[in-house]
Order: sequence, then structure tokens, then C-alpha cells
Amino acid sequence: MTSTSPKTPAPPKADAALVEKLAMANRILYNQGVVDGFGHISVRHDKSPDHFLLSRNRAPGLVTAEDILCLDMNGDLAEPSEHRSYLERFIHSEIYKARPDVMSVVHSHSQSVIPFGVTGQRLRPIFHMSGFLGSGSSLFEIRDGAGNTDMLIRDTYLGKALAQSLGASNCVLMRGHGSTTTGPSIEVVVYRAIYAEVNAKLQIQAAALGPINFLTEEEAALAAATTEAQVVRAWDLWRGIVQAAS
Ligand SMILES: [Zn+2]
Repeated sequence: MTSTSPKTPAPPKADAALVEKLAMANRILYNQGVVDGFGHISVRHDKSPDHFLLSRNRAPGLVTAEDILCLDMNGDLAEPSEHRSYLERFIHSEIYKARPDVMSVVHSHSQSVIPFGVTGQRLRPIFHMSGFLGSGSSLFEIRDGAGNTDMLIRDTYLGKALAQSLGASNCVLMRGHGSTTTGPSIEVVVYRAIYAEVNAKLQIQAAALGPINFLTEEEAALAAATTEAQVVRAWDLWRGIVQAAS
């Protein structure tokens, strides 16, 4: 059980502002329609790269700073708690292990992305706002390594398989389940998760009209560098909307 016997020494307390930002990111992702009662976002611990922060098992739209737990790379709680974390916490632990560059991870079941995973299609950058998709999303097929399952990433084995499918990309589609997006900060990964959903909608619309002229890999890289350097502008707006609604 994850609520007892921590296996890795607990790190110092995470920066309070980071914890607050992670809680806000949960509510932004709900407000923007990326997550609903399910889905989650984590951030790597600011004082220990071998730990990360994730809410207790709670709907993202309700998460506050008090709900944030610290977990280690086994997906275990760093300190005993009366709360439990999400079943799919291994998505986060295994991606942080495999990708030292990743500082924040969003897992969602956002609806427009689902048709891509089940047809084996990649999300590809259709406009400048989704340059982070680069040469396209990765695809994870859970049946390959685990046969028939409930589709959830509920252990380290499946988390590792997902991280392998993600590879060096920023977004992996999970067939019949959802997607997972990575980034170098909370602000950027929230932006990417929102625009992965927007890109999926637009890609479906464009495909109905005819062959799509996607951004080249170089255009995608140039566009991503420009838009993601200004991501705080969008973050301030999304945060303001959440604050005004509460
Ligand atoms: Zn899920």
C-alpha cells in the first residue's frame, strides 16, 4: 500500500509557490476542458529530481494546495498519509525516470484526441500553436505488452512501457484511453495539453476537407520556440478565469 513504508528518504518540503501553481494548473485544465472528473497533472520536485508532486485521488477541478502529495520514482508516497494518490501515478513516475528533461506531465482523456489513438493516426502540428507536436505524437498500444487490461497504467511495468512509447516526443496517444503530454514547466505542459486537444479538433475538421499541409518539422520547431516563450501570457489569462469563477 502506498500510504505506508516509504522506500526513498523524503525530500525537504517543496516550494509553496510550486505547490500552489500545481493546484491552480489542475483547476485550469478542468476549466479549459482538458480534464473532467478524471485526469491529472504532476510536477517534478524542485529540491529532489527523484520525487514529484501530484494531487491525492481527487477530481482536478477541486484540487487545492492541501491535496498535493509528494511521491517517489516507485510511485510510492514519500511520507505516510491518510490519502491515496491516483491509480495511474505510474504514468508520471516512469516518464520522470526515463526523461530527465521533463519537469511536468499531464494525463487526460480529452475527447477529440481519442479518435486518433484508435485509428493509429498521429496528431501532427496543423498550426503554429501546436509546434510542440514536432514530427507527430507517439502511440502507445497497451495490448502489445499486457494483453487484455482495463486500459489503465496501474503499475511500473505499464508505466515503463508507456514511457518507452513516448520516446523523445512531447505527446503520446494511448489507444482507447487518452493521451499524456510532457513539458519543461507547469505553464508549458498546461499550454501543450490544451493545444493538443485544439489541434485534434482542427485536424479532424481539416481531414474532412482534403489532404492536410502540416507544418514541417522545422516550422514546428520555430513556431514552438516563439509561442512557448510567451506562454505566461496565456497562463495569466487562464488563471484569471479560474480565480474569477471561484
Ligand atoms: Zn487515464
